[in-house]
Amino acid sequence: MNGNNAIHIKDLTKYYRGNQEPAVDKVSMDVSDGQIFGLLGPNGAGKTTMIRILCGLLAPTGGTVTVGGYALDKDIHKIRRIIGVVPQEIALYPTLTADENLVVYGGICGLKKYELKEGINRWLSVFGLEKSRHQQVGRFSGGMKRRLNLIAGLLHNPQILFLDEPTVGVDVQSKNVIIENLMEINKFGTTIVYTSHYLEEAENLCSHLAIIDQGRIIARGTMNDIRKAHNTEARLEDIFLELTGKDLRD
Ligand code: ADP
Repeated sequence: MNGNNAIHIKDLTKYYRGNQEPAVDKVSMDVSDGQIFGLLGPNGAGKTTMIRILCGLLAPTGGTVTVGGYALDKDIHKIRRIIGVVPQEIALYPTLTADENLVVYGGICGLKKYELKEGINRWLSVFGLEKSRHQQVGRFSGGMKRRLNLIAGLLHNPQILFLDEPTVGVDVQSKNVIIENLMEINKFGTTIVYTSHYLEEAENLCSHLAIIDQGRIIARGTMNDIRKAHNTEARLEDIFLELTGKDLRD
């Protein structure tokens, strides 16, 4: 391990082919073991690009990254074993049942049969999907799909869990179950890196935050650090607007 850094990023840069401007522009930051780290920013800020790079799904243009002490450019196979990834797009097979989907994911992670069975039973119950386990996922509500998507990323008990906008498009009940359980999972030692544009949610969930805009970090630290650097009375939403401006980003 690299000290107590779950993630160490130095001068990370990403240019997509054909783009003049970088999507991620010389970002340096650390995430310590045990944190719930929120990467916040408006649309197009570079959040998904960063998460995809950290998970080894996208090659950076420059910079160095270590995840769990392993260098991204040398030890991606070791990194894959210790991370869980919950992408923004629902990555489930609609014609398979919830159970069958998780068996497929568990198989990819190389879980033993009994570990898989135990994990599936446990997480389906935790996320309130036990009764729907034999239903085809195509018939699930948006919130149920998101919860199952999350379980798929958790089945192998990852040391570090990446989530890209895990609560987008779900009802309040599902959102609460997701947030409460992320806190619980973190208590048992999993480091969580999460992107969101729901500021209030991030404020409640995250121990540490970075606000990113146009590929650059423009504020970071605990909520208190960020407040101290700005108007201590302001809501995160107001600080965010002050930092990122009011231009529409769609
Ligand atoms: P966020 O997740 O914060 O909304 P993204 O990481 O998706 O931001 O996008 C950052 C920037 O990179 C945006 O300007 C976006 O248009 C651009 N971008 C994202 N994906 C691609 C791609 N596959 N090809 C070209 N440009 C991309």
